[in-house]
Amino acid sequence: NLTAESHRIPLSDGNSIPLLGLGTYADPQKTPKGSCLEAVKIAIDAGYRHIDGAFVYYNEHEVGQAIREKIAEGKIKREDIFYCGKLWNTCHPPELVRPTLEKTLKILQLDYVDLYIIELPMAFKPGDALYPKDENGKFIYHETDLCATWEAMEACKDAGLAKSIGVSNFNRRQLEMIMNKPGLKYKPVSNQVECHPYFTQPKLLEFCRQHDIVIVGYSPLGTSRDESWVNVSSPPLLKDPVLNTIGKKYNKTAAQIALRFNVQRGVVVIPKSFNPQRIRENFQIFDFSLTEKEMKEIEALNKNVRYVELLM
Ligand code: NAP
Repeated sequence: NLTAESHRIPLSDGNSIPLLGLGTYADPQKTPKGSCLEAVKIAIDAGYRHIDGAFVYYNEHEVGQAIREKIAEGKIKREDIFYCGKLWNTCHPPELVRPTLEKTLKILQLDYVDLYIIELPMAFKPGDALYPKDENGKFIYHETDLCATWEAMEACKDAGLAKSIGVSNFNRRQLEMIMNKPGLKYKPVSNQVECHPYFTQPKLLEFCRQHDIVIVGYSPLGTSRDESWVNVSSPPLLKDPVLNTIGKKYNKTAAQIALRFNVQRGVVVIPKSFNPQRIRENFQIFDFSLTEKEMKEIEALNKNVRYVELLM
């Protein structure tokens, strides 16, 4: 019974998260300035209330501006919006966590984020370089204690700078490490990972369900297929015959079927589009439902191959 108005699911800390959000990662070299600003405003007008962003996407200032403009217009109130920000790899040492979130809030010009997540479980050397490399072009990693990073995340929630805290790209072992931490105050409410019909995450999804951790599925449409960071040897998701055939039945696109599949099984989706028509299209997934047989057919498309290999 998902409707556009009621498309939120509860988080373990008492807050809730909209099942559909707008992803905002676009290659800064190839994307005209202001595209993200326009996209977020169009999305809010179309009904989106959840925006997924990050400091490392280089457009967080545009996201903040769009949200503030829509509030000033009277279209929304701050509390209607759910913004997720991310702690980058160079900022894992516990003493850097709060200042990093404060920097994000300054860029956004907002008082709090709704969700703050550790973007990746491994750390890079702290400093100005976001992708620090040695003279041989190898990434410079940094010894950190994820549990200490998590305690600093908990302090951000206590300080009211983040309403909820979670993680991203964590596997079961890494989640368990946090959840078994002595003196744990808040467990991660969510884990943002790649998730779509070709990478359905059956085991992680089951584990997270058991522990009341919401899966937020990134690259839910199979990415932009940018060869600089995407494994394009896996076929394009949206060309899949099963998704297209099911789409015809409901007068929906393969993209809408892929998104509906995830939200119908309780997985939050954050498709990225900066195109007005596709932003609206991706929101039109609450006026139909897939049958149990169709859900099974789509589940069977799983190839267990990631588009986003994150080789670093
Ligand atoms: P995605 O949402 O699966 O796909 C985006 C691509 O699909 C873009 O090229 C977009 O182009 C196109 N598109 C959008 N709607 C479409 C439609 N209805 N029909 C056909 N094509 C469509 O990929 P993603 O950007 O990799 O993932 C989404 C978001 O997840 C990111 O933006 C980011 O916020 C987050 N993310 C997080 C992590 C992490 O490590 N935590 C990693 C990757 C992504 P147009 O813009 O031209 O429409």
